[in-house]
Amino acid sequence: MLAPLIFFFIILFFIGFLVIIFLPKEEETPKIYHSGTYSIIRVSPREKLKKERPSKDEMLDFVRKIGKDESLVDEYFNILEENIKEIEEGDKSGVVFFVYEKDNCSCETCKNIDNYYLRRRDIVENTSLIPPFHLGCKCKIKGTFDATLIETKERIKFVNSKWEDIYEES
Ligand SMILES: [Zn+2]
Ligand SMILES: [Zn+2]
Repeated sequence: MLAPLIFFFIILFFIGFLVIIFLPKEEETPKIYHSGTYSIIRVSPREKLKKERPSKDEMLDFVRKIGKDESLVDEYFNILEENIKEIEEGDKSGVVFFVYEKDNCSCETCKNIDNYYLRRRDIVENTSLIPPFHLGCKCKIKGTFDATLIETKERIKFVNSKWEDIYEES
C-alpha cells in the first residue's frame, strides 16, 4: 500500500523538478538601452547606414564614370557623418524630433525638405530619411526640443531620391 504512494510522490517531485528547469526565463532586457521611454530605439543608425548606403569606393567609381568632381563623395560622407553625430548627440540628451535644414539643391526633396520634421524612432526603420539624400546634397538635420518648431511641419514618411542623382544648385 505504501509503495505506490511513495512512487507517486517521486513522480510528482520529478515533474516539479522538470518544470523548474524548463520554465521559460524572463527575457533579459539590455540595460544600456533601458533608460527612458524611447530608450529602446536609441541605437545609433551608424552601422545600419554602413550596410544600406554605398561605400566610398562605389561612389567614387560612379563619379569618375560620369566625369563629375570626386570631392562630391568626400562632401557626401562628411555631411552624413555630421548628421549621424547630431543623432548620437541627441540620444544623449533625449532628443525625439529633428528638423531639416535645406541646402540650395533644386531637387524636389531638398527644396521642400524644411517643410518636414523627423521623429527619432522613424530613423530606426528608415535610414533613408537621414541626409544627404544624393551626391551633392548638403541638407542637415538638427535635433530640437521646441514643439513650436515642428507644429507647422509635416512628419516625413519617405524620401524619393537616389544617391546617384546629382542636381545643380539653384
Ligand atoms: Zn537635392
Ligand atoms: Zn539636399
